[in-house]
Amino acid sequence: MIKKDYSVKKVSVVVPVYNEEGCLDELIRRCLESLDKTGKDYELIMVDDGSRDKSLEIMVDAAEKNDGKVVAVVLNRNYGQHSAIMAGFDAACGDLIITIDADLQNPPEEFPRMVEKAEEGYDVVGTVRANRKDSVFRRLPSWVVNKIAQKATGVKMNDYGCMLRAYRAPVVKAMLACNERSTFIPVLGNSFARNTCEIEVGHSKREIGTSKYSVFKLINLQFNLLTCMTTAPLRMMSYIGGLVAFGGILFGFLVLIFRFVWGASWAADGVFTLMAFVFIIAGVQLMALGMMGEYIGRMYYDVRARPRYFVESIVGRKKEK
Ligand code: UDP
Ligand code: MG
Repeated sequence: MIKKDYSVKKVSVVVPVYNEEGCLDELIRRCLESLDKTGKDYELIMVDDGSRDKSLEIMVDAAEKNDGKVVAVVLNRNYGQHSAIMAGFDAACGDLIITIDADLQNPPEEFPRMVEKAEEGYDVVGTVRANRKDSVFRRLPSWVVNKIAQKATGVKMNDYGCMLRAYRAPVVKAMLACNERSTFIPVLGNSFARNTCEIEVGHSKREIGTSKYSVFKLINLQFNLLTCMTTAPLRMMSYIGGLVAFGGILFGFLVLIFRFVWGASWAADGVFTLMAFVFIIAGVQLMALGMMGEYIGRMYYDVRARPRYFVESIVGRKKEK
């Protein structure tokens, strides 16, 4: 058997940034400090996802000051967190690539531990947020999504929502080769990984700025996650539809029998029950349609095959990859 070399020579850290001017200085300082501690060659790649505040200035400034250590990838507009990370992946040249959010909810101080863990022979090092500091509204959907994700990918990771993760270069390369637009990176990454593991990391409240996810963006993200993993809901819809229709037929028979046993007045009184069932069936149909729509909408996006993002410029990189 070929012995795989799991040693890490260069670490790339990819951070998507969207209006995070308040966090950036501290983020850069803490990331660089932590990366120094890994004892590896490294680069910090910050992707500006069309920020409208001072984020870009701060990034470019850092890239110029820390020549070769900090790289700023500038997208021409806002494409969303996962597309921004993809742009960062494309620019990364390390053999271990770590993703982290810019808001410092996850501590950059965990980098050395993650590198160590990866060197033990893992393709993906995930993290679990110990006592997660988000609201219930943010946690409940995550819980549902994690359960589905575990089922769909067959990889038992407990916290798909946590973006502090390390991927080996071949896994990232595989992800970049995927043409789909509606991606959810942790799930996509796991589907290309042979050995995965999870470590527990700290989690803190967002101290500066606000969450960049509105309710609608969040709903879209959850659907992205679902549709990128599995087509099972489509099938489930047909099962549910079949079941409801079968129930409807049974119910029809019952109504017929009761009509003969108790007479017409009973049947008239049953109108409302019937109505209720009609509503249920209509509801199920609409749900099924909606579910189909989610997939078809994404197919439409993928078929158009527009670029996932467009890089305007890269600052802090001497030679092209
Ligand atoms: N982000 C981004 N583009 C977006 C939305 C978010 O690059 O359209 C970045 C954001 O700057 C942060 C990360 O994605 O670094 C996670 O965002 P946030 O902390 O707001 O999400 P939450 O923690 O609420 O899930
Ligand atoms: Mg956050």
